Amino acid sequence: MNPNFRADLHIHSTASDGTLSPFEILDLAEKIGLSGLSITDHDTVAAYTPELLKEAEKRGLRLVTGVEFSTTYENGPVHILGYNFDLGDTELRNFCQRHRENREKRNRKMVVLLQKKGLEITFEEIEHQGTMGRPHIADLLVKKGYIADHNQAFKRYLGEGKCCYVPAEPVTVEETLDVIHKAKGLAFLAHPHLGRMRTVKKLLEFPFDGLECYYARFPLNEEKPYLQLAESQNLLISGGSDFHGAIKPHNPLGASWIDEERFNQICQSR
Ligand code: AMP
Ligand code: FE
Ligand code: FE
Ligand code: ZN
Repeated sequence: MNPNFRADLHIHSTASDGTLSPFEILDLAEKIGLSGLSITDHDTVAAYTPELLKEAEKRGLRLVTGVEFSTTYENGPVHILGYNFDLGDTELRNFCQRHRENREKRNRKMVVLLQKKGLEITFEEIEHQGTMGRPHIADLLVKKGYIADHNQAFKRYLGEGKCCYVPAEPVTVEETLDVIHKAKGLAFLAHPHLGRMRTVKKLLEFPFDGLECYYARFPLNEEKPYLQLAESQNLLISGGSDFHGAIKPHNPLGASWIDEERFNQICQSR
C-alpha cells in the first residue's frame, strides 16, 4: 500500500452545481497530489464522457464512477452516493433523466414563487447545462443584484421551509438503492452527520453497502461515531470533500479522503 495515496470520493463539477469542469477537476486533483477520485454530481453522470475517462487514465489518476442521488425519507432530503456502477446501464440513465424532468418542474415552481415576491426573473434566464437546482437560481438572484450571495438566497428564499422553497418530487431510498445495485454499483449514505443518529440507524436498515464517514473539513474525531457504526454493521467506508469549487470555498478539494485499501474495496467490487 502507498502511504501517500489519497482518494477524494465526493466532488461536484459543472455537470451539477460545482464551478469547475470535470477536466479542471482532473487538473486540480493532479496538482494537489490526489491518487484517486470520484466526481459525484447531483442526479447525473454527465461528467463521465469517454474523453474524461481516457484523460484520467493518461494522467495516472484512478477515477471511479460516481453520482449523488437526491431522495426523500420521512419528508426530508437524504443523499445517496453511488460508486463503481456500469455507466452504460439504461435504467440508471433513465433514472437520471427522470430526476432532470422532476427538477425542471420544481425549478419552474420556485421561479414563479420568486416572481410573486416581486423579483423580476424568468426560468429562461437561469444559465446552466447540467443538473439544475437551487444554487443556479441563487446565481441568477446574485447576478440581478437581489441578494449578495448564496447564503442569503437560501436564508431568505430558497432554504427548506423558506417562502420560495418547493420540496423535490419524492424519490424513495429503496428505488434509488435498487437502481444503483442493478447497475452493479455500491450505495453509500452521504454525510450522515447532517441527520440525526436515530434516523441514520433507521436508514442503514436499507441495503446500503457503505457509509460516508470522512467528510469535508471534519474537526478531529468527528468521524469516530460513523466509523464505529460502519464497522459494527460491516459497511464499507468512504469519504470526500463535497468540493463545489468557488461556491463553497470552505471545502477545498482533498479536504477529506480515504486511503488506498478503502479505495480498492470500492473499486474492486465488480
Ligand atoms: P437542490 O438540489 O436544488 O435542492 O439544491 C441543493 C444544493 O444547494 C446542495 O447540494 C448545496 O450545494 C446547495 N445548498 C443547500 N443549502 C445551502 C445553503 N444554505 N447555502 C448555500 N448552498 C446551499
Ligand atoms: Fe451541491
Ligand atoms: Fe449532499
Ligand atoms: Zn455533494
